Amino acid sequence: MNNITYKNTTLTSSRLIYGCMRIAGDNSSQDKAKGKLAIRAALDAGYNHFDHADIYGNGECESLFGELLNESPNMRDEIIITSKAGIRSNPQHYDFSNKYLTSSVEGSLKRLNTDYLDLFLLHRPDYLFNAEEVAETFQQLKQSGKIKHFGVSNFSPSQLSLLQSALDEPLLVNQIEINIHNINSLSDGTLDQCQQKGITPIAWCPLGGVVYPAWGNTFSLEDEQRIERELTRQAHHYNCLPWQLILAWLLKHPANICPIIGSTTAERILAAQKALTLDYSHVDWYRLLEARNGHPLP
Ligand code: NAP
Repeated sequence: MNNITYKNTTLTSSRLIYGCMRIAGDNSSQDKAKGKLAIRAALDAGYNHFDHADIYGNGECESLFGELLNESPNMRDEIIITSKAGIRSNPQHYDFSNKYLTSSVEGSLKRLNTDYLDLFLLHRPDYLFNAEEVAETFQQLKQSGKIKHFGVSNFSPSQLSLLQSALDEPLLVNQIEINIHNINSLSDGTLDQCQQKGITPIAWCPLGGVVYPAWGNTFSLEDEQRIERELTRQAHHYNCLPWQLILAWLLKHPANICPIIGSTTAERILAAQKALTLDYSHVDWYRLLEARNGHPLP
C-alpha cells in the first residue's frame, strides 16, 4: 500500500482510505459480523486510515468500530481515525455551533472507544457558520486533546479559505465527492486550491456513476454504455477490472486524491490496491473523460 504524509505533519495515511459508512449494514448481527471482517480485511491489506461520521448508521458504525478497538486495544496507535460532524436530522440542517460540535465529538469518542480523533472534519458547510466561533471550538478541542488535526468536507474553495483565515491550525483535507459522474472539482477550483495549499483531497463514493448510480444521477443508459465500452477497452489494455481504472483515473490527478474505499467485500478491499500499480496514461485519462462527457473535448 502506498502512503501519503499530510503537509507539515507526521500523520501518514495509506493512499486508499477505508470508509466505514456501510459497515453496520442493516444493523443485523450478520451484517455487523461482515462489517468487522471488512475492517480486518482492510487492516490486513495495509489500510491504516478509517473514515467515520457521527451519523453513519445513526452512530452504529462508530460503535461497531469501537467494539473492534476494545477487542484489539493495541490497534489504536497503528491507525488514523477520522470522524465528521455538523449534519443534524429532524429536520435536516447543518450546525457548526460550539455546543453541537463539542457534543458530537464527545459522542463519537465514546462510541469509538478512544480518547482522541486523528482528524476531525466538518461534514458539510453550514451556510450560517461563524468562522471565529468554529476557530474557538477547534482550539478547545485541540487543547483538550480530543482532536489532533482538522479538515473539512464538501467545502467550496471560498468556504475553506474563509474558515482557514480564522484558524491557527492548517486544514489538512477536503473530503469531496469525486467520481466519473461528479467532476465538478476538476474545474470549480477545489483541486487547484488543494494543490496550491497542500491540502489533501479525499474522494468519497469514488465508484459512483459506474458500479452504482451516483448521487443526483444524470447519466442516461446511453452514457453508461459509452463509459462501459471505454472502460472495457482500457481494462483489456491494462489487464485489470473496469472499476480499478476508475480509481486509477482519480489517482492520476496531481493533487494526490485519496479515494475512500467503501466496499464491505474483502476481495474488493484488497483488489482496490491494483489501481495504485497501474501505469495509467495521460491519453487514456482523457479518453475516459470524453467517454463520460459524450462529446469530444474542444
Ligand atoms: P464506494 O467504494 O464508491 O462504493 C462502495 C459500494 O459499492 C458498496 O456498496 C460496494 O458493495 C459497491 N461496490 C464496490 N465495488 C463493486 C463492484 N465491483 N461491483 C458491484 N458493487 C461494488 O464508496 P462509498 O461506500 O459510496 O463511499 C466511501 C466512503 O466515503 C464512505 O464509507 C464514507 O466513509 C465516505 N462518504 C463521505 C461522504 C461525505 O459527505 N463526506 C458521503 C458519502 C460517503 P459491497 O460492499 O457489496 O462490496
